[in-house]
Amino acid sequence: MLARARDFAERRRGTVGAAGPQELRELLDELDQLAQDASRVHFYATAREHTEAMDPETNDLATLARDRAADLESVLLFVELEWLALDDAQADVLLQAAELEPYAHRLQVAREEKPYVLPEGEEQALNARRPALSAWESLHGRELATLTVEFDGGDGPEPHTIDRLLSYVHHPDRELRLAALDVLYGVLEGVADVQAACYDAIVGDRLAVDRLRGIPDVMWPTNQRNELDGDVVEAMMVAIEEHYPLGRRWFVRKAQVLGLDRLLLADQYAPVGSDRRVEWTEAVGMVDDSLSAFDARLGEIFRSCLGRGHVDAEPRPGKVGGAYCNTVSKTVLPYVLLNYTDQLRDVVTLAHEFGHAVHGVLALERQTYRSYHTGLALAEVPSTFAQLLAVERLIDREEDPATRAMLLADRAEGAMASIFRQTMMARFEQRAYGARGEGKGLTRDRLAEMWIEENGRYYADSIELPDGYRLGWTYIPHFIHVRFYTYAYAFAHLIAFSLAAHYREDPERFVPAYLEFLGSGASRSPQDLLLPLGVDLRSPQTWADAFAEFERCVAEAEAGVDELQAG
Ligand SMILES: [Zn+2]
Repeated sequence: MLARARDFAERRRGTVGAAGPQELRELLDELDQLAQDASRVHFYATAREHTEAMDPETNDLATLARDRAADLESVLLFVELEWLALDDAQADVLLQAAELEPYAHRLQVAREEKPYVLPEGEEQALNARRPALSAWESLHGRELATLTVEFDGGDGPEPHTIDRLLSYVHHPDRELRLAALDVLYGVLEGVADVQAACYDAIVGDRLAVDRLRGIPDVMWPTNQRNELDGDVVEAMMVAIEEHYPLGRRWFVRKAQVLGLDRLLLADQYAPVGSDRRVEWTEAVGMVDDSLSAFDARLGEIFRSCLGRGHVDAEPRPGKVGGAYCNTVSKTVLPYVLLNYTDQLRDVVTLAHEFGHAVHGVLALERQTYRSYHTGLALAEVPSTFAQLLAVERLIDREEDPATRAMLLADRAEGAMASIFRQTMMARFEQRAYGARGEGKGLTRDRLAEMWIEENGRYYADSIELPDGYRLGWTYIPHFIHVRFYTYAYAFAHLIAFSLAAHYREDPERFVPAYLEFLGSGASRSPQDLLLPLGVDLRSPQTWADAFAEFERCVAEAEAGVDELQAG
């Protein structure tokens, strides 16, 4: 791959400025092929790393692949820089050319960075500092990953990681939930200073580089990648904050269901109703039905991926936790990894990942590799939509009122976690950047104070926040890796709610428009992609539609527990 990339660079370096549309098209096609082959290599190495983490050869391969991917990136970087170096008039002529149509939108978006790009030597100097910045990120991650503490989850004391301690928030036993969080807050005391120092260094660096580049707004880099205007994001966040009382209404109701005066934070995700076990084959049938009921093609894609062994669902030692979908290239079907444990929640995860997979397949059928992948906010829309469809189907078909109550509560609480809580986190980040920009250090106490205040704006007095929760910011990796990442979850969930409502109103009109949306990949802006689906990001009606749907979910969750209590 490196040899091919170097050969490409030797032939093409210095040619972008003088290239006509046809020549630039050929260059981009060749680059697109390189990128896809690199993606296959990279996926092979990471998939092995994610499924056999204990194998030394696998780890060496993953390290090698990462190092070479970075080399590859620097060899090919000249294309972007030469494209940005063109003056606007010259670029506009190329962007209008029919030959470049499959790349036009991505090329246009890339040029938004032009005002903030520094001369090549300065860019390289900034790039050379990357390992130093990654060191702060790794220190932050390592502090958390290596934290283990003895905890008795019912089977005697065992070493627990942070993730395992956090998983007790879903446990039916209240004493256990409270104890797990207590232990968690205790361990966080030991790392909070280091975590604050990592965050302070990273935020300080980002602000300094923003100043050098002349970037006017701390949210700009994230908004630009999401292709969302700052005004649209702010309008969404304000609309979300106005609806915080909807969350509080549920928490008050939930306290009654659990027989409490008021919820403690540890009760926020306590189970309501009851779960049931779902065997893998039943789950496959459910997701297949849900996708196929929307459109036969989506079910076909699902079955092809399964049939070719592209789904790794079995939890086993040496395999990573969580779930993801990797859309490898135009010639390879997507791969999905998850950890299936026979819970209803896992069925929802399977549907979510296949929302990504069908998006990837349909977009890659029509788009170039460069133009298929959207920013993170839009990327989570098809997955969240697929998840909502699957949950709706599970609820409709569930005969046991206790299980239905659980599904309804889970759907409402999931929406609260991604819409309300993630927005609260973005507000926390804004305050942190604001303070750091004024020259105030981000110490643990300062961060703790902002964290508790922002949480208080959401929960108010509907949930009691324990004192230890003031260190709750220490284990959120998004703050460290991508600034303001979290609002993408809120955006995607609200848009998916809007889409679900439009689908219900007029399925015959909606389905073809939605398939067109999936097939369009990232070839247009989110505004232009969503408009034919009846979603106008500039209109307050979009958020109103989404909250009407959210409200319906909360009301149904309330009805679910009413039914349970009446029975
Ligand atoms: Zn996702």
